Amino acid sequence: MGRVRALVMTMLVVSAPSLGAETMRIAVGAEAAKVTVEGPGLSSGADSDDAAFVPTAGASHVLTLTNQRVVLDGAALETDAVRFRAADNGTVTVAGSRVRGDVVVMKGRTGLQVVNVLSLEDYLTGVLGSEMPTSFPIEALKAQAVAARTYALNKKLEQYGQPFHLGSSVLSQVYKGLDAEDEHTREAVEATRGLVLTWMLQPIEAYFHSSCGGRTESGLEALGRDLPYLQAVDCPCGSLPTSHWTLKLGATELKALGAAKGASVQVPGRSPTGRARRVSVGSRVVDAVTFRERVGYMKLKSLSFEVSKAKDGVVLEGKGFGHGAGLCQWGARVFAEKGWDYRRILAHYYPGTELQTLY
Ligand SMILES: [Zn+2]
Repeated sequence: MGRVRALVMTMLVVSAPSLGAETMRIAVGAEAAKVTVEGPGLSSGADSDDAAFVPTAGASHVLTLTNQRVVLDGAALETDAVRFRAADNGTVTVAGSRVRGDVVVMKGRTGLQVVNVLSLEDYLTGVLGSEMPTSFPIEALKAQAVAARTYALNKKLEQYGQPFHLGSSVLSQVYKGLDAEDEHTREAVEATRGLVLTWMLQPIEAYFHSSCGGRTESGLEALGRDLPYLQAVDCPCGSLPTSHWTLKLGATELKALGAAKGASVQVPGRSPTGRARRVSVGSRVVDAVTFRERVGYMKLKSLSFEVSKAKDGVVLEGKGFGHGAGLCQWGARVFAEKGWDYRRILAHYYPGTELQTLY
């Protein structure tokens, strides 16, 4: 325990007194040509946790990137980044989101990048409501809170010293700011404050997904991460109607995938859990992940499917939603309804890991 704290704490950035013990830097949206920052009693300063903040004139500011200089309300700045803070821990509205903590607007590659700097616990409260239905049982929400905290810390260590640690889209963890919070997400985050999952005294790569369809996938098969705590385990979500789906791919869609008229779709290679490794479309064989990307991640919900011929195309009958590695959210819900607490749920999906209190 002591070693984990020492290791992680020495690697993490010195904390901001006004933002809490542990901060995250989250990229909000993609780079933009123009950014508007709004909030009550805004002050601004350098992009540093202990910067001196000076009150700004007005409650709304427009920033642009002109001749490679950051321009604030028409005046070019001497620096490549400026940080805003609202009075009395108020919220700042930027790029359509209300967020807690500070907002940094910085010069990016081709435009302005917005980065939200906030305490890890506030970040998690927003992530939780974006990643899992807030109506799920509290023990499932707590399990998700620990997984999301661990995932975030792991990314922070990996991205140490970079302008930001994580994005806010489905590619990292979905973060919709203050508007995704509610009393359940706050309760789940507070009840697990500072708790992280570790393996050999290091925060783990705590992947999670919506539903696995009955058996999770190994980290190696799903994401190319061969980790001892990311092994395939049984899951009760397979019996839920929501875990099952059907997708018809008609002639037009098959043609868009490069198939000749009348070509069939087959699965020549599967992982030990039955998920597709390779998919053939006519005479062309592609990696299954590439196939899912081409069809669309939201349309082809997982790689666990069977193919049958249909009139004018094929029908895929599948199970689960997501890559299938780590915590299964719908499975966590079933376990919580059966009376499992979050510790038992986490031990099931990340076997061999230990829960440690980091702060
Ligand atoms: Zn599952």
